[in-house]
Amino acid sequence: MAKSAGKESYEFFSPDLLDSSIRKQEITSALQQALVNGEFSVHYQPQVELMNGQVIGFEALLRWNSALGAVPPSEFIPVAEECGAIHSIGEWVLREACQQLSAWRREGRPDVHVSVNVSAKQFLDPEFAEKVARILIATNVPAECVEIEITESVMIDLDTAAALVEELQALGVKLAIDDFGTGYSSLNAVKNIQIDTLKIDKSLVDEVLGSDRSMAILATIIELGKNLGADVVVEGLETLEQVTLMRQYEVIGQGYYFSRPLPADKAARVWNKYLEQPDGMFHAPILY
Ligand code: C2E
Ligand code: MG
Ligand code: MG
Ligand code: MG
Repeated sequence: MAKSAGKESYEFFSPDLLDSSIRKQEITSALQQALVNGEFSVHYQPQVELMNGQVIGFEALLRWNSALGAVPPSEFIPVAEECGAIHSIGEWVLREACQQLSAWRREGRPDVHVSVNVSAKQFLDPEFAEKVARILIATNVPAECVEIEITESVMIDLDTAAALVEELQALGVKLAIDDFGTGYSSLNAVKNIQIDTLKIDKSLVDEVLGSDRSMAILATIIELGKNLGADVVVEGLETLEQVTLMRQYEVIGQGYYFSRPLPADKAARVWNKYLEQPDGMFHAPILY
């Protein structure tokens, strides 16, 4: 007993944990100034209809170039959620993405949507739908061109989530469930809310070429999405082999094969190549 308690208390003060708590404090404090310092930017990654090679949307992905260097969202988003900064940061991302879409529309580019990631804490804010509505009006973007990506974690408060989903659907914005297949209650999430898009996580796609069992699971999830009346996006496509295989399932693809997430001007250049040569992607990745 004493020994294990001693071991635990030793672990509590281990250099690793101390390092990570210092790092977290540094991130928390750097986050406070990040917006006013203009340290954030948004990158855009195309979503491609595999049947015809058309770009149908872009996912907006937040980038932070901070005094601490480039910090990935997987590291700072959880901290931003914890310290509450996620509300103002998330609102900024949504406005930025809508402004970009609005600019593309004014240039006369083809209709696409923009997908914006929204964390559970931000989504469950009772004023979230109102904030979305205000941004849509301010940026002059049609609601149906905006898709909100949530994960099953919003289901921790099912009643609130269901009410907010209804508010957003009344506005006309689209709803996607992200990282499908990675959590504990993915099925529960799609059972309880009506979604427009099911995004299948990269981890479910990674092994399909070498494993019949993985392919059977992926095919079944695609079918599930379609039976629910949702569009299906397969995330993390990196190779021509994967793209060729997925094409048979009539899904939307997203991944480094088509393009990494890029600043808006570069993303638009990749988009141009797709417009010029819509089936070029099936022969070689587009260079930029
Ligand atoms: P996500 O929403 O599932 O986004 C997909 C992630 O996979 C992105 O990582 C993207 O860069 C990466 N990715 C795309 N294609 C490929 C591929 O072919 N191979 C590989 N290895 N990776 C690929 P990123 O940008 O680092 O974002 C990580 C996560 O951070 C996102 O996962 C999302 O959950 C969160 N995130 C990003 N931006 C925001 C934001 O504005 N707000 C919130 N709340 N979360 C965000
Ligand atoms: Mg996402
Ligand atoms: Mg995802
Ligand atoms: Mg994710």
